[in-house]
Amino acid sequence: MPLVSMRQLLDEAAKGGYGVGAFNVNDMEQIQAIMMAAKETKSPVIVQASRGARQFAEDLYLFRLIQAAAELNPEIPIAMHQDHGNSFDTCKSAIELGYTSVMMDGSLKEDGKTPASFEENVEVTRRVVDYAHERGVTVEGEIGVLGGVEDGHGAGGSGLEHITDPDQAVEFAELTGVDALAIAIGTSHGAYKFTKKPDGSVLKMDVLIAIHKRLPNTHLVMHGSSSVPKDLQDIVNQYGGKLKETWGVPVEEIQLGIRNGVRKINVDTDNRLAITGAIRKVFAETPEKFDPRDYLKPAREAMKKVVAQRMVQFGQAGHAGDYAPIAIAEIAKGYADGSLTTQPLVAAR
Ligand SMILES: [Zn+2]
Repeated sequence: MPLVSMRQLLDEAAKGGYGVGAFNVNDMEQIQAIMMAAKETKSPVIVQASRGARQFAEDLYLFRLIQAAAELNPEIPIAMHQDHGNSFDTCKSAIELGYTSVMMDGSLKEDGKTPASFEENVEVTRRVVDYAHERGVTVEGEIGVLGGVEDGHGAGGSGLEHITDPDQAVEFAELTGVDALAIAIGTSHGAYKFTKKPDGSVLKMDVLIAIHKRLPNTHLVMHGSSSVPKDLQDIVNQYGGKLKETWGVPVEEIQLGIRNGVRKINVDTDNRLAITGAIRKVFAETPEKFDPRDYLKPAREAMKKVVAQRMVQFGQAGHAGDYAPIAIAEIAKGYADGSLTTQPLVAAR
């Protein structure tokens, strides 16, 4: 199957009432782990690369690996997504490579650190939407600012500093025409999201629900949504790691989000922990080993297990065969003739 439009994938998820995990990749083993999980659970999937990943792997290596994944798994719809594009040029270069979706994160200035004004965010996002839709490519925008830093991207600080305002979310969706909207509800990038199991004082699910009420048909995106489960932390620490105690976003909160318009859930940290734990275990238990396959294979297997679990929990499992992919050129026509709407349905307050 060729790479699929993320818009199509999310529209289908909305019809089916489920969420789709978006998993970050940097190398072949991570891509393989995701595809093994998607195949096993029969899941459509979003694979995403940050700017850091594109730099680490080099664009062409990474993109060719994704193409191989698509060719080897014709029964799995795969969308390839640029995570946190910091500028029009970053998004344009991803589109030129063949990514079927981009995130224009205009919540921050191009340095990827300084919060931008609402007007600046609208302007750059609108520009990316015009360019991308003409080419059949999906756009995710962000309103409000997430906490933490990942791959050098992020405002830092707690996730509570720039919570999304529902009225501004409506205005942003109307002015930009984005296909998916990332919102800030207190989550952060990285492993250290919460210092205890999050409650409503730090994880603002009520804000998410308020946004969904105003924008009932808009696909919402949860970033920084690893659950950082204790068992994965324990394996890392048991074999010499030094992670401090931390909490992520509980799966049941994500599921509450999915019942309230969340269609894309970004997960990275959980996979990083699974990989690191598995590698540490091999090093600790069999220090005589030195063939990279001896630790990369269990690392890949550990990540596959986490991804498959999330696919079941998010509800995307079993939906790979629900629909046939629409060619990207057809999607472009849909945007042009208005059959693929970019104006949100807005409900009164
Ligand atoms: Zn993110």
